[in-house]
Amino acid sequence: MPDADSKSFFPESDFTVIGASFAGSLLASKLARYGSVVLFDKAQPGIRLKCAGGIRDEEFEKLEIEIPHVRVNNIIISAGGKTSGFKSGYVVADRRVLDAAILEKAIASGAVFQKAEYISHDPGKNIVKLRHGMKTSDAAYRKLILAKGFVQKLGNSFHGTSYVEIIGGQSKYDDSLYFKILENQIGYYWIFPLPDGKLNVGIGSFSKTPFSPSDFKRFKEEENINGEVVSKGGGRIPMRPAIAVMKGDVCLFGDSAGMVLPLNGEGLRYISRMSGLWAECIAEKKNLNFRWVSSRTFARLYAGSMVMQIIIFMEKHFRKGLYSFLCRIGASVRNIIRQ
Ligand SMILES: Cc1cc2nc3c(=O)[nH]c(=O)nc-3n(C[C@H](O)[C@H](O)[C@H](O)COP(=O)(O)OP(=O)(O)OC[C@H]3O[C@@H](n4cnc5c(N)ncnc54)[C@H](O)[C@@H]3O)c2cc1C
Repeated sequence: MPDADSKSFFPESDFTVIGASFAGSLLASKLARYGSVVLFDKAQPGIRLKCAGGIRDEEFEKLEIEIPHVRVNNIIISAGGKTSGFKSGYVVADRRVLDAAILEKAIASGAVFQKAEYISHDPGKNIVKLRHGMKTSDAAYRKLILAKGFVQKLGNSFHGTSYVEIIGGQSKYDDSLYFKILENQIGYYWIFPLPDGKLNVGIGSFSKTPFSPSDFKRFKEEENINGEVVSKGGGRIPMRPAIAVMKGDVCLFGDSAGMVLPLNGEGLRYISRMSGLWAECIAEKKNLNFRWVSSRTFARLYAGSMVMQIIIFMEKHFRKGLYSFLCRIGASVRNIIRQ
């Protein structure tokens, strides 16, 4: 049983969400329509830079938040010395600002935020163990949502690694998301414009080999990016969506559920798209596992994961540069379709 002290520190609620970054806060804002929500994070959201902050324009509109952002209409892909592009509407924002705004939205919807670290949970007793300051307490939960980012499982090393910097200076591709495909690995560099005369630049590797910091330094030199580094961040990228996302009263959401397209590392769009389904199934006790695996998003992410595994295998044993070749073909096809 939770002790009396923990009851006062951790308010009782219908939904307990662990992780108040993009996924946790967005889901909390939707769950708040169905009951009381308490949201825990070990860190204050909006401080740590997690990603490049690029999100499809239609998903950004649905978030209904007002934050500084840049709209771009093109995607430029440079691969093997050739450059192709196609039209696509994206919004880019400072990810820290985005996370803070989504948390604010969750709180405005009625969710309560507490800074505490999740340690473990006992699904038999519906108890979650949390650390706050130097103290560890147990708190009861009715529904527990783990949205605490990518968790590497034992025996599963299939993930990507990515690094991002926010830098003072204008992007020379100010109306575009610019990607340069890595030559010796599966992945890419990127340059995205940001508001207030800043840009974000990064590198992501989707194979098991981590990206090379010296390659990233060289890329910045080649692109004449030499402004002041305002912030740095990054992290791991899940490369396979979870099939079982709900077990009893516990479910996974966001990177914890592998909700990322392994072909390009994009996650915000799918988290945003799935947040309504998650809230509905959790609150109305619907079969989330079935609804998830029969969704188009799951099919897309799962197929992306399979294709990526084939590319990694082929590059390792037969043909180097396959990812780069496919990116070029993909960009040309999309260019023709969207003309
Ligand atoms: C460098 C990089 C660039 C990317 N760029 C893009 C992009 O441009 N567009 C895009 O769509 N996607 C991008 N992605 C993917 C995207 O960032 C993720 O899909 C997204 O951040 C997932 O959000 P999340 O809330 O599930 O997880 P996270 O953002 O990882 O948040 C997890 C939260 O849980 C908290 N937490 C962790 N453990 C605990 C614990 N034990 N107790 C309490 N709290 C805990 C953390 O403090 C954190 O706040 C990028 C990823 C990387 C690494």
